[in-house]
Amino acid sequence: MRKAHSKLFTPGPTEVRSEILQAMAVPQVHHRSPEFTELYAALQPKLQRFLHTEHPVLLFTASSTGAMEAAVQNCVRKRCLNLVNGAFSRRWHEITAGCGLPCDALEVPWEKAIKPEQVEDKLRSGKYDAVTLAYNETSTGMLNPLAEIAEVVGTFPDVFFLVDAVSAMGGVDIDVDGLGLDVCLAGVQKAMALPAGLTICSVSERALARAETVNPRTYYFSFPVMLKYHKRNQTPSTPSISHMYALDVQLDTMLDEGLEQRFARHDAMARIVQDWAKRHFDIYPEQGYWSKTLTCVKNTREISVADLNRKLVEAYGMRISNGYGELKEKTFRIAHMGDLTVAEVHGLLGVIDSILGL
Ligand SMILES: *Cc1c(COP(=O)(O)O)cnc(C)c1O
Repeated sequence: MRKAHSKLFTPGPTEVRSEILQAMAVPQVHHRSPEFTELYAALQPKLQRFLHTEHPVLLFTASSTGAMEAAVQNCVRKRCLNLVNGAFSRRWHEITAGCGLPCDALEVPWEKAIKPEQVEDKLRSGKYDAVTLAYNETSTGMLNPLAEIAEVVGTFPDVFFLVDAVSAMGGVDIDVDGLGLDVCLAGVQKAMALPAGLTICSVSERALARAETVNPRTYYFSFPVMLKYHKRNQTPSTPSISHMYALDVQLDTMLDEGLEQRFARHDAMARIVQDWAKRHFDIYPEQGYWSKTLTCVKNTREISVADLNRKLVEAYGMRISNGYGELKEKTFRIAHMGDLTVAEVHGLLGVIDSILGL
């Protein structure tokens, strides 16, 4: 049986507005009908404007992990460098290795950001033709220096830059073409604030061209197959059409709210939670690289995070996240992304204060 809903302050899935849920509850159109191609065609320019790109933005009916697999399958010809400083960036290394592609991990301590010099050092070996980065490491609340790393990668013409922007897209501005990102992907259940099941994935022309030559050992995640249908405003297989209706509404809302306002709201929410965390606890990642969409709080008071979350859920209908994997109970994570408001974030922190007697 369904219990009362708890508002999600978790870094994915995130809270979804009822307008978005209602946008999904529409009669289905057939995916080979003109109504569908109209929907698909309407989404493209909005996605391109939102991501500052002129390249195709593919839509995978899959969670982000599927598109991460697609990126390496289609873009690694020689050898991939996986930049690792958390659980999701490590997953990308596991995916790359699991697909049987040659790869190495450059792993740094998880509380440290990936620095451009470290990337440059590795790429100078000439061994690599692709690099993966988790822009916003959701397991540690770390916003890696995307622009600086992109600048370094850009100096190696054969190296393609594959970016997991999963918990960033929709919360921070991403200038895909300006930064020269070859693949930039994000599942929609994080800062896009939609239910899980769809992933947005921009792909550069040269990545599409390379995908034609690597012969990816995948059909569902093949860029060339996707592209063939994309050109007719369709997808190769039956997509989650409901998601696409919801995405259309959400993009309209974002573009109406004004992207600048949306990102400013994320800045404001981040500052509020960071200030609170510094006052009562500490913040896990090194200063200067704190995420704008979630804060990973170091549990310096050694509270029981599980107890806190139980009280939040049972008495207040709110939910936060424990630390990820080994960071469980050592940290906890408060998401401030998507369609949450400054007022809701203040509300959550006030409730935590009263539960913990802060
Ligand atoms: C959530 C997340 C993923 C994985 O997403 P799924 O939707 O569970 O496949 C990958 N990378 C980052 C940074 C994430 O936050």
